[in-house]
Amino acid sequence: MKFFGGAILILAAIFFFSPEPEGFPILEYHQVTDAPPEPGFEMYNVPPADFAAQLDYLQSQGYTTITLVDFMHAVRGYKNLPDKPIVLTFDDGYEDNYTEMLPILEAHKMTAVVYVITNELGKKNYLTLEQVKDMQRRGIEIGSHTSDHIALTSLDEIFRRRQVRESKIFLEWSGLEPICSLSYPNGAFNAELEKILREENYLTAVTGEAGLNTLQTNPFELYRVHIRKPRFGLTEFKFRLWKAKFFAKLRNFF
Ligand SMILES: [Zn+2]
Repeated sequence: MKFFGGAILILAAIFFFSPEPEGFPILEYHQVTDAPPEPGFEMYNVPPADFAAQLDYLQSQGYTTITLVDFMHAVRGYKNLPDKPIVLTFDDGYEDNYTEMLPILEAHKMTAVVYVITNELGKKNYLTLEQVKDMQRRGIEIGSHTSDHIALTSLDEIFRRRQVRESKIFLEWSGLEPICSLSYPNGAFNAELEKILREENYLTAVTGEAGLNTLQTNPFELYRVHIRKPRFGLTEFKFRLWKAKFFAKLRNFF
């Protein structure tokens, strides 16, 4: 017993004093709104005032927002990343991403990646195609969150390919610039999906696994940390950033 206790203490000490992990965080948001959430989605609505405070905090800490296209340019050596990059992503394509989130983002001169479910576009509470186009014109990267938001690992090869292929083609044929990134519905992914995404000309995909990303991270398994509706204000947001770092350190350690 004594031996194990000592071993755990030594391991904990080595972990604590091991070097800070490298890499940048990708944040995963959904809605930015004061509206009461749908039952079952209580944690998804970040109030605009909290969102603005989070952006203020990121700027005060010297972070610069980039898109995942910027990231891929850096991976391929076309450009350098800023000193402290960060990516803000928004899943599902809710209308408040246009009406509430975008003005706050632009007031901070920041950018983001918005992942839309193409068969939800134009429905109640979701972005319209025109809003999506306007966001892209204003410097937001638009990504695919598939056609129907079904966990891709639950589908057979034909249907999972259709989900990623048809959503991309729909957006591009509707007049948007090329769609390069995908967000896995429910964070469900595996190695076969990476192969399909490469064949369908995607460059990156984001998961729901916490961690930090470097130029060496598999671009089809990018780590993200989920930002929920805060119960403890900015302290909770700082905790989420710390969580990304902690998981990165854990992965380096083992
Ligand atoms: Zn989603």
